Amino acid sequence: MVGYDSFMSLFRFIAVLGAAAVLAAAGAHPLLAQTAAPGSLVHWPGEGIERCLVGDRAFEPTVVGEEPGCLVPVGLTRTADVIAERDRDGRRERLRIGLGEYPYSVQRLEIKDRSRVDLSPENLARVQRENALIGRLWGRQGKPRFSLPLGAPLEKMPAGGRFGAKRIINGEPRSPHTGADYAVPQGTPVLAVDDAVVALAGEFFFSGNAVFLDHGNGLISMYFHLHEVFVEQGDEVPRGHRIGTVGSTGRSTGPHLHFGIRWQGERVDPALWLGEPASIATVR
Ligand SMILES: [Zn+2]
Repeated sequence: MVGYDSFMSLFRFIAVLGAAAVLAAAGAHPLLAQTAAPGSLVHWPGEGIERCLVGDRAFEPTVVGEEPGCLVPVGLTRTADVIAERDRDGRRERLRIGLGEYPYSVQRLEIKDRSRVDLSPENLARVQRENALIGRLWGRQGKPRFSLPLGAPLEKMPAGGRFGAKRIINGEPRSPHTGADYAVPQGTPVLAVDDAVVALAGEFFFSGNAVFLDHGNGLISMYFHLHEVFVEQGDEVPRGHRIGTVGSTGRSTGPHLHFGIRWQGERVDPALWLGEPASIATVR
């Protein structure tokens, strides 16, 4: 039997949620929706959304499944709750997403080429130059030219992953893995996951031969360690276009595609963009 106390606490819980929702609509207090893991996405559905806001970013709604809504990034390296807002029917609404546990594994790697682990001053300067160049891509905006799920970056997708894995390279803790790795033979065609403009293509210290595609509305897809690259900066490519082939260039332990996604500047699990939209957490 459900006791009076638990009934009352349930009642209070509903009342608090209701009050929070009202205050949220007024912009006074954020509504706590749920928690989400670092590197994940939360879809906040609704009709009549004019724009979505997270941090200093403003962007258009995204359709997930059949529903339009704000697709809120919870960045892999975040350490605090995410506050999202949206303008809807002339009102500002707020949502607070609690930061959940870090769910990813630990990966131990041996990289024999120590010059790619312990950087010389010249290589460090090179990496810093490249990071500055790449960092400018995250601010790109423009009309969305993609739809979920994205197309696969390989014709046959093997099991892949290791997104978010904490890395211990040659015995020392390093930055987490920011993409998903797919081990396939060198020369396998790599495909654009949706319509895009080539934002950057070149040879980089860690990423090797790399292509960065801008799909508009703050979505950038990345393809690293390529053997060949068939596109140049500024090229327009359609979904499924062959942009290069799989290789093992840069800091890599063997032929594989490293596929990454930045959404509104945040690192999120690329598998969420390739899978069934139902795998994306939704605010109800
Ligand atoms: Zn990788």
